[in-house]
Amino acid sequence: MRLGTCLHHNEQYVFIEREGHYYLPALAAENTGDEWRSLQTLIAHPQRDSLLSALELSADMQVDDITLLAPLPRPNKNIICMGLNYFDHIAEAADFAGRNAKKPTAPIVFTKSNACVIGPDSPIPDDPEVSEQLDWEVELAIIIGKTGKKIPLDKVHEHIFAYTIVNDISARDLQFAHKQFYIGKSIDGGCPMGPVMVTSDEIADPQALVLTCRVNGVEKQAGSTAQMIFDIPSIVSILSRSMTLEAGDVIATGTPDGVGFARKPPEFLKSGDVVECEIESIGILRNPVV
Ligand code: MG
Repeated sequence: MRLGTCLHHNEQYVFIEREGHYYLPALAAENTGDEWRSLQTLIAHPQRDSLLSALELSADMQVDDITLLAPLPRPNKNIICMGLNYFDHIAEAADFAGRNAKKPTAPIVFTKSNACVIGPDSPIPDDPEVSEQLDWEVELAIIIGKTGKKIPLDKVHEHIFAYTIVNDISARDLQFAHKQFYIGKSIDGGCPMGPVMVTSDEIADPQALVLTCRVNGVEKQAGSTAQMIFDIPSIVSILSRSMTLEAGDVIATGTPDGVGFARKPPEFLKSGDVVECEIESIGILRNPVV
């Protein structure tokens, strides 16, 4: 199932996308609950799976005039992010820094503020007083569907509800000037997400998805989730050893090579650019830089 969040007549709805059409279950008289207004509520609903399997999409739920929001417009927590989880990205970052590339022995984990999430087509603000080095990072993001702690590798699939796309926008000048990543990873508008989340049952192998990033139609990143150093079960299992992962938590799994700061010469986003992150089976997340 392909689910998302939208505005329709200035109200927020959960939508189901099927064959290019958008259905708002809340438009049916029987679907009065908050779970059809908030994906966060739906994901954490105790009867979620039966609600979704009982749902019958009808013509009176179908609408055309919607504005897409991020699937989770304001996640309950910061986005948990993997740093340096693709070796070719480690290699380009090491080359930039004049170091030898080395695989991490444990995942590098940082977070992005939940307040910087924006939806498809929303502008990524370019403010030279904030940063002159806005960079792109296409990433597969995991949406946790079932709360858990100390999740064993072979149970991780039971805890994943869906996958989406995140563009881990990074203000490199801030990221490199401060000791921690948080400030450079959390500028306003710095976490485009969407356009939909796709439930895990519809992604045959999340570890075999092509992911690409284009700026103004020119391909900058092209990789496969097969290249992750710490794969999805490892990421979820390792994080959950020390922290309870809750329904609705978002985990961005890292980016392949081709980011702007490591290019020769370096390239950064500027006003007027359009950045597109595409992941097979999910879609295209497109945002203008303004
Ligand atoms: Mg990243």
